[in-house]
Amino acid sequence: MPLDMVPSLSPPAPDGGPVYWLVFAGGKLLVRGDKPPRLAEQAAAAALGLAPDKALYVGLWQGRPCFTLEVDPNAPAPEGHDWHGLYGLAMGWSEETTFLAGRAKQLLAWERRNRYCGCCATPMEDNPGERARRCPSCGLVAYPRVSPAVIVAVAREGQVLLGRSPRFPAGRMSVLAGFVEPGETLEQTVAREVGEEVGVQVKDIRYFSSQPWPFPDSLMVGFTCAWAGGEIEIDGQEIVEAGWYGPDSLPAIPPRSTIARRLIDQVVGSGAKGPGGGWV
Ligand SMILES: [Zn+2]
Repeated sequence: MPLDMVPSLSPPAPDGGPVYWLVFAGGKLLVRGDKPPRLAEQAAAAALGLAPDKALYVGLWQGRPCFTLEVDPNAPAPEGHDWHGLYGLAMGWSEETTFLAGRAKQLLAWERRNRYCGCCATPMEDNPGERARRCPSCGLVAYPRVSPAVIVAVAREGQVLLGRSPRFPAGRMSVLAGFVEPGETLEQTVAREVGEEVGVQVKDIRYFSSQPWPFPDSLMVGFTCAWAGGEIEIDGQEIVEAGWYGPDSLPAIPPRSTIARRLIDQVVGSGAKGPGGGWV
C-alpha cells in the first residue's frame, strides 16, 4: 500500500492548496455529503469557526496538511456536510482514508486522556520534537496508545473457522480475534484465543499482515494457522456460534476493506462472494 499518510508534528506554511479537516462531534466525523462521503476541507472548518492554531496537526495526507479537532456534540454540520460514524465510513471508504480518520480519532482521544499526569495529576505539556505529552513535575512521558490484538484464520482442509460475536447480528460471522496480554508473544495470543473461544488447538502459526483498527485504538495483527486438534466448543460469551466454512458455504462476512476478509479469502479463495462494499 502506498504511504499516503506522512505523520509529522508541524504543518507546512499555507500555500493556498487544499487543507483537510477531521472534525469530530460526539465521536462522529464531519464529511462532505457526496457518495461516497469525502473528507471535509478548510471551508467547512471555517464555517464552524475552527482555526489551525486551536487544532491538532495530524500530518500530510496525499501531500496536503490535515488537522483534527473535537467540537460540541450538538454542533450543526455546515451546508453540504454531515456527521458520520467512523465504523460505517470504514465499510465504504478506502483503507488509506480510513487509516487517516482513525489516526486523527486516536490522537484526539490520546490528547483528551493525557491532559493531566497519571502519576501526580500535574497538567501535561507537549514534549518538544515528538508526539508525546510530558509531565513537568515528575517527568512521566505519555505516547499515543496502541493496543495490539491478533486476528486469525484457522484453516482445516480448505475450510476456514468462523465465529459470531454476540455484537454481530445473526448470520454475520468473521475470523477470531483477541487482545494481546502483557508478557505474551503474538503467537501465544493466537493459540490462547483460539483455544479459549472455540476449544481448538492450532499449529503452523504464520504472520499474514496488519491493519490499524481505531475502535478505539487497536492494531490488528493478522495470522494464518492450521487446525491441529480438538472439535469446536464455543465459550458462549465472546463467541456464540462457530463453524468450519468452505468457499461455497460462507455466511455473511466482512467487506474486502478489512483484514478479516483478506484472511478469509486467503484460506478459502478470493472468489468467495460479492463485490465487498459491505457485509456480503
Ligand atoms: Zn507527573
